[in-house]
Amino acid sequence: MRTARWTAAIALAGMLGVDAAPAAAQGTLNLYCSVQIEWCQAIANNFQRDSGIRVNMTQRGSGETLAAIRAEGQNPRGDVWFGGTGDPHLAAGEENLTQAYESPNRTQLHDWALRQWEQSGRRAVGVYAGAVGFGYNTELLARKGIEPPRCWADLVQPRFRGEIQVANPNSSGTAYVIIATLVQLMGEDQAFAYMRQLHPNINSYARSGTGPIKAVARGETGVSLSFVHDAVTERNAGFPVAYTTPCEGTGYEIGSMSIIRGARNVNQARRFYDWALTEPAQRLGFEAGGQLQTPANRSAPLPPNAPDLSQIRLIEYDFAKYGRAAERRRLIERWDREVGSLP
Ligand code: PLP
Repeated sequence: MRTARWTAAIALAGMLGVDAAPAAAQGTLNLYCSVQIEWCQAIANNFQRDSGIRVNMTQRGSGETLAAIRAEGQNPRGDVWFGGTGDPHLAAGEENLTQAYESPNRTQLHDWALRQWEQSGRRAVGVYAGAVGFGYNTELLARKGIEPPRCWADLVQPRFRGEIQVANPNSSGTAYVIIATLVQLMGEDQAFAYMRQLHPNINSYARSGTGPIKAVARGETGVSLSFVHDAVTERNAGFPVAYTTPCEGTGYEIGSMSIIRGARNVNQARRFYDWALTEPAQRLGFEAGGQLQTPANRSAPLPPNAPDLSQIRLIEYDFAKYGRAAERRRLIERWDREVGSLP
């Protein structure tokens, strides 16, 4: 959207017979971003520098961004949505809140990233992948004499009473991936029975998916249910954090990117999309943001000490089914009724 100030700058430049500043000349991009703030800032700054396009970035969790895009459906304010778990991107595509795009750079991607694009009717492309697991504070658990969790079955043990933190699926895509993972591992009724049994061991349902692992790092909680790459980020920052992946198997995300339907700056959105798939942009997650997801670009290396997904027991996550808007809504509503409302 052109701001009054921007328009005035162009008019003044015209009167003076000079070109407007390059950033203004290239226009503006409204970027919705659902990865950690450090990474969001890095892509906003680097893309602005590389393209001359002025970036307005808003960072929110995946579920919150989906809710915002829905609310703005008749009057879209965002142009492109970078990152966050894949399921809400698929739901947005199905609800016709995003638009198809075929980037020439898609040929540089891993198959799993392209599969997401194909399954979504070319509306959402994979930009990274990461697995769910348990993060824990090694010092806190050692001090309390608590053995770290290795299996989903361990988490419901009395030794973890009040020690575990996870996010709320209404705002967090991570939390929804965890619910969908449990449903796929156990069957739906069993998974909800498990989550109710787990409830006394949960000290808080955080707003953002990365809140619980940050609480682990700060020593506010012993254990988090998180993406395991985020545990390595905290360890690299010097905190006493380690992770395990569940012995029964675990789910994973294909962090995604979509262009919003009705985007006012669609050309800028496409330029950003093409740029975000390139190797240098894909390296920024680690190099500027300290993030350890598996990059979607085949030439972007797995960051040092990042979890290697080929070494983790992953379920065959059914992205098509669990990314469906109605299924997502139904499972979150059931969670609200049966788990989130428990005292
Ligand atoms: N930050 C990182 C590093 C992630 O990998 C993801 C998942 O895509 C998110 C944030 C998403 O956060 P939330 O669970 O709050 O939607």
